[in-house]
Amino acid sequence: MFRKLKPDIRYGDIYDTDADALKKSGIKLLLFDIDNTLEPYSAPLPGERLSDWLRSLIGAGFTAGIVSNAKRERIASFVEGFPDDIRERILYTYGAAKPSRKGFLRLCAEAGADPSETAMFGDQLFTDILGGNRAGLTTVLVKPIDPGIEPPFVRFKRLIERPFL
Ligand SMILES: [Mg+2]
Repeated sequence: MFRKLKPDIRYGDIYDTDADALKKSGIKLLLFDIDNTLEPYSAPLPGERLSDWLRSLIGAGFTAGIVSNAKRERIASFVEGFPDDIRERILYTYGAAKPSRKGFLRLCAEAGADPSETAMFGDQLFTDILGGNRAGLTTVLVKPIDPGIEPPFVRFKRLIERPFL
């Protein structure tokens, strides 16, 4: 269990990603948490920097997807905010109940990627990293974009995470 809390890779944020290295190691599908990984907690829409970055990854041959525990409305309206040329290319699943494996495996199946060809990026050990490891993915821990505006239950989880970081 503790072993499964250990990310394979750590970055300061998603923009530190070494896409060439991931590609060389056989990664084809990049999965992301939204809140505090792609954008600050509850940011309603993706920003331009994020859209440009995802466009370049898709252009480089990766498939991108979002695995979130949030409700359908939150995810659907966020994805709706991507520019026309990439919106349809971004897979997503909501209510994923991470650390359950189901959301990760659903998007792997949808993308035609094996879990061994998939990386999961997230800011929380007990959901994103534990779930990604349980599903057999390469896990990437990023620092939360803005921990100052998280709801109390997330801040509580951060306290519990601390000894494992
Ligand atoms: Mg998060």
